[in-house]
Amino acid sequence: MPTPPYLKQFPDENGYFGKFGGSFVPESIAKAMQEINEAYDLIAQNSDFIAELRKIRETFQGRPTPIYFAHNLTRELGGAGIYLKREDLNHTGAHKLNHCMGEALLAKFMGKKKLIAETGAGQHGVALATAAAYFGLECEIHMGEVDIAKEHPNVVRMKILGAKVVSVSAGAKTLKEAVDSAFEAYLKDPVNSIYAIGSVVGPHPFPKMVRDFQAVVGFEAREQFMKMTGELPDIVTACVGGGSNAMGIFSGFIDDAVELVGVEPLGRGSGLGEHAASLSFGSEGVMHGFNSIMLKDSKGEPAAVHSVASGLDYPSVGPEHAYLHSIGRTKVAAISDEEAIKAFFALSKKEGIIPAIESSHALAYALKIAPELKGKKILVNLSGRGDKDIDFVVEKYGYGEAF
Ligand SMILES: *Cc1c(COP(=O)(O)O)cnc(C)c1O
Repeated sequence: MPTPPYLKQFPDENGYFGKFGGSFVPESIAKAMQEINEAYDLIAQNSDFIAELRKIRETFQGRPTPIYFAHNLTRELGGAGIYLKREDLNHTGAHKLNHCMGEALLAKFMGKKKLIAETGAGQHGVALATAAAYFGLECEIHMGEVDIAKEHPNVVRMKILGAKVVSVSAGAKTLKEAVDSAFEAYLKDPVNSIYAIGSVVGPHPFPKMVRDFQAVVGFEAREQFMKMTGELPDIVTACVGGGSNAMGIFSGFIDDAVELVGVEPLGRGSGLGEHAASLSFGSEGVMHGFNSIMLKDSKGEPAAVHSVASGLDYPSVGPEHAYLHSIGRTKVAAISDEEAIKAFFALSKKEGIIPAIESSHALAYALKIAPELKGKKILVNLSGRGDKDIDFVVEKYGYGEAF
């Protein structure tokens, strides 16, 4: 499919989507980001790079992932047809490998030897460690001590894959401190290493680059959906943490008359600290090197957030989402912990697919609106599989009921 005009137009050369995005970083980081930006601009046009990425997607990742018509849920709800883009079937079980393979291939082309990143729940760390093994690159993942204890299986996976896991014991010992620690390590050797950001966030060029690598999800989905049903979906929906899986699927439909809905985590409710719904409740501000919509505490600092899905637990959102929402091109919905868990069990018991709790947010939104939309079609990006979540879910919620 030819690149939709919107994607060529946004962001501008300085990484802005309207007033959102940009690069708000110290001089030392700015230089490194500039170098990555120039390399990416060059490489994105290079037919060897494109051919290599295509081969990786087919033979290593198992792309294209299918679209599945959720026939049992659709029949039971009696409204809109519900379709799932199966990113849970992508190698390593989620969409994250789409941009990790792209970033690692870029690192290889730039002659880098080492991939550095932070990870919260460990999903980005595992995907990046996988990419590093594929390309024969070193991999160093920074992770808070608290998260290391909580996310033991992912720590084990990263180590089996050959990555070095750096335990971070500063401050609250979670994601924010891990980001600081990873950046520090990166700045010690920006010549041989590259910082690989895990979503459409951070300073330019990462929001653009990660979106471009994820756009394959939307391009595939558009073609598959047309072939399957003879028309475009009425609504496309995805969960939004940083926003990479959502920008991936939205990219395929951005210039079409299709409603795009980002689903944020409402957690335990609308009070500050109880959710991580940045677009729904946040305000403009700069964090982690970019201008976007964020959740702030009374001092203007990034607020504490909560979601049952650790992958959605972020007090800001990718700048492109802030822009698309501000101009009315996308809509935003919020789904609570409880609604997400209900959808988790519904898909497991009615269709035989155990979804990630993150993806269950998007699914829950589709299940909520479907009964009123007979004759319409909803496409949900099922961003990942739920194997990582089963122990937590069963301990907290038991084995569940379908509805
Ligand atoms: C990390 C993760 C997310 C959230 O990241 P986005 O950048 O918002 O897509 C969503 N789903 C799954 C399965 C994840 O692992």
